[in-house]
Formats: sequence, C-alpha cells, structure tokens
Amino acid sequence: MSRSMRMESRVAVAALLAVVVSACSREVPEVGRLDGLHVPPAENLQIYSLSRGETFGELLNSSISANEQAGLLMAFSEHASPRRMRQGTEITLRYLREDDSLRGVDVALTPDQTVRLSRDQLGWSSDLIRTPIYVDTIFVSGEIETVLWNSVVQNASLETLTFADRNSLIDHLDRVFQWQVDFSRQIRVGDTYRFAFEREVRPDGSMRAGHLLAAELVNQGTPFHAIYFDPNGDGQGSYFDLEGQSVRRAFLLKPLAFRRISSRFTNSRFHPVLQRWRAHRGVDYAADAGTEIMATADGVVIERGRDSSYGNTIRIRHGNGWVTRYAHLQSFKSGVVVGSRVRQSDIIGYVGMTGLATGNHLHYEMLQSGQFKDPLSVDLPAGDPVPSENRMQWLEKRTVRMALLESIPGAGPVRTLVAEAQTPPPENPIASGGQP
Ligand SMILES: [Zn+2]
Repeated sequence: MSRSMRMESRVAVAALLAVVVSACSREVPEVGRLDGLHVPPAENLQIYSLSRGETFGELLNSSISANEQAGLLMAFSEHASPRRMRQGTEITLRYLREDDSLRGVDVALTPDQTVRLSRDQLGWSSDLIRTPIYVDTIFVSGEIETVLWNSVVQNASLETLTFADRNSLIDHLDRVFQWQVDFSRQIRVGDTYRFAFEREVRPDGSMRAGHLLAAELVNQGTPFHAIYFDPNGDGQGSYFDLEGQSVRRAFLLKPLAFRRISSRFTNSRFHPVLQRWRAHRGVDYAADAGTEIMATADGVVIERGRDSSYGNTIRIRHGNGWVTRYAHLQSFKSGVVVGSRVRQSDIIGYVGMTGLATGNHLHYEMLQSGQFKDPLSVDLPAGDPVPSENRMQWLEKRTVRMALLESIPGAGPVRTLVAEAQTPPPENPIASGGQP
C-alpha cells in the first residue's frame, strides 16, 4: 500500500495570537502585535494523507485493532462516509505523550471542516469542528509599470499570499471597476492604485473569502473610487463613488468572464445553419462548452426550456421593461427554474451548442419593452445610488473607508492584522458577513 506519512511533534495546545479589536472598530487599521504563548506539547502526532483508492479503514489497519476500528468508523460515519473520502485527505493520529496511547484522530474533510474523533472509557465519539477563520485587512498600493495584473501579482506586500489569492484580488478589482475602466485597454504606465481588502483567512494562510472595502484607481490622471456599502449588513452590499453614485450599471457588460466576440448584432447576416440571410439580434460569444454563464442583472427567470432554434434557453425579466435571453446552453445551473430570483453575476447555466448552432457559443439578447437592443452599444442604465434613507450611514462609512485608503503610504504598501474572529458556531461558518 502506498502512503505518504510523516511524523511530527506539534504544540498540541495552539497558541492563539492576535490583537483583538472590538468589532465596531475593526476596519480602522491598527498595527498588529503577535504574542506567543508557549505550552509544552502533550501529544505526538502522526499525519497521513489518503492515497488514491485507499479507504479510511485501510489506512487505520496498521495502527488500530479491528475491534477498535469498528467503533471509530461508526463514530466517524455520523459526519461522513469512511468509504467515500477524497484522495489527499489529511488524517492525524494523536498519541498521548505519557504512555504513547492513541487518544484521538482528526480527519480534515475539507479546508473548512475537520471530524475530531476522541476515545474515552466508553469508546469512540466524534465532533465536527469548523476551521477557525481569522479576519484581516490587506492594504496595497502600487504604480503600474507594465500592466495592472503584473503590478498586483508582483506587489511585494502580497508576498505571503498564494498566487491564486493574488489573482482573486485582481478579479475583485476588475469586477468593481469594470464599468469605469477596461483593465486590458485603458490602463497606462504610471497609473496608480490603492485598496483595502478584507479577507477571511484559514490557519494555513489561504484565503476563504473576502471583499474590497475601498479602492482607488488613478487612470491617466482621473481618480476612480469604489467604496463598499452594505446598509443592511447582510453581505449584499454594493460599491459607490464618493458622491454616492453606484459604480455599477444595472447590467454587466457581458454574460461571460470570457471576451471573444464571434458575431455581432446586425439586422441582416447569412445564417450558417439556415443558409439564408436573416437578422442577428444578439451577440454571440464563442466559448468552451461548459463555460459559466452569468445573469447580467438582477431579475426573475421567466423561461427555462428547450426551443428548436435557440436550444436550451433562459429568459430573465429585469426592472423597467428589460428582458435578457441566453441561448444554446449545454445545461442549466441546478436550482434555476421559472420564477427563480437571480442577482447580477449569479451563474445560471453553461455554454453549449443546443438548437441551431454550428459550434459552442452563447447567444445573448437584450430587449427593452419588446424592442431588440444591441448589447454592445446600448447605453446601460445606471445602478441605484445610495438610498436617501441610508444617507447618514453612508457618509459615516465613506469617511471611515476613505481614511483606510489615505492611511496607505504611497511608497511602501503595508499589511496589518486587524482582528481575530471567534470560531464561528456551526450554523454560521462565516465570521464576518459574506461576499458582496
Ligand atoms: Zn447568435
């Protein structure tokens, strides 16, 4: 049996370290101070990683008697199936130092969940433990020397972040500024940026979730600002400029993250399948089969079905008489049915070539009051500004979040540990809001 194994002694009682700042002042940057607490280790740990095709029981064979295994696996199966565990699952056997007896087993089901198995006189019992999440805020600034992507990915202050997490930061910036600045075409050498990003971090340093609190981009001398504001505190906030105007439009520029346009809106074109001229009243986006399709605006699904020419189709009704149509889908996102409420950027289905189509692509249409509009040239309606009843709350948040930006030194970016979240209760694994 092939198996990777390493033996380690670890400090069994974790030394928790952080500056605890009261929740209401969490966004005010304060320099973190790390205090260690030393406790002599009480356990020896053996850490295994499950091989391909190996079961939990097989892994335990060499360490535990068959009798004990039965009780352990039964306790484990209260939380997960011991026969269906993914390759690479980390399993930690915990031995008491004094007499080298096995006192517990930890199984890391996912990066966020561990089953802790414990033994006492009565046998084995189990608990599901949520990985503690820390919340911190990253402060970043920089000047663009080539392109924004390079500048952020190579930013020295982000050295401790994984490549995937740095990429995710750029995605967040792109999503927020997509209507103001085209990152691939408008960014110039000498443009500058600063942003404050709040994230949830696992003990291993990987990012679980996060959102921009405030960002500034100076593009060719023009500053753009985006301040996060979530008046209801439900994680469904939005971004506004300093005047309280929405930085978003009611519609995304495109329903795919992907950019290549294969056929534009025209009143007459030669149809490759029908072999005759007819109007093309939408935009085709060529993309790989299975590429995720997003709802371009908040709305309600009014059609989800199969049409002989459109193939698998979704139609969504939005405010002010707008309707969007997404055609030739390979499949629908599960749970999206007629009557479903969707939010802008929600995934609704996947690119395919059902109906009259010669290759995988998304056909996308926009209609207003029944009239076809060219999605590439229509003047997209603006998103709603800060509601007047939230004006005072907004002004307060704006002041706090602009202060965050202004605290970022221009020369050298800094990162500050701001707060430690408590281990959240099981029904609410996210310590601070959700993603916007
Ligand atoms: Zn088309």
